[in-house]
Amino acid sequence: MGGVNNAIRDSVLFTTADSVINWSRRSALWPETFGIACCAIEMIAAGCARYDLDRFGVVFRPSPRQSDVMIIAGTVTRKFAPVVRRLYDQMPEPRWVIAMGTCAISGGVYNTYAVVQGAETFVPVDVHVPGCPPRPEALMHGFLLLQEKIKKSRALAGTPLDRIAVP
Ligand code: SF4
Repeated sequence: MGGVNNAIRDSVLFTTADSVINWSRRSALWPETFGIACCAIEMIAAGCARYDLDRFGVVFRPSPRQSDVMIIAGTVTRKFAPVVRRLYDQMPEPRWVIAMGTCAISGGVYNTYAVVQGAETFVPVDVHVPGCPPRPEALMHGFLLLQEKIKKSRALAGTPLDRIAVP
């Protein structure tokens, strides 16, 4: 009997579905590979060998269908905003958005008729990374904030499992 108890103690782990699902989601964040303006240069640097975003499980993907994170890195013009929105719509859920740089957050210095005054006006933004441009370390910090946000979210909210009554 002691052997069985030891085997259970050594191999059974109690946790919650939210913890496991959120752990897997935040450990493999796959951003879409696209940049809009100068901020994208710093985003690219963050993904290259010196900063190596892969260490955080952040791996750029070539298709919105394979991505769960959108980094809006650059100035979004009114003409281009519908394209960014379409890319967002093509991503499967759950999905998250990082607004990188002052332009993406508020339009930055481009307070003109041609520039969208903040990505929040056409997609839901989860994390803002300020700067003009933000350094790669700032983007990495943005991903850590996003991971914290995912960790605290309710993964099963709105699903049939969420409606099971717990006695
Ligand atoms: S925030 Fe600065 S670096 Fe980034 S897109 Fe705007 S002008 Fe370029």
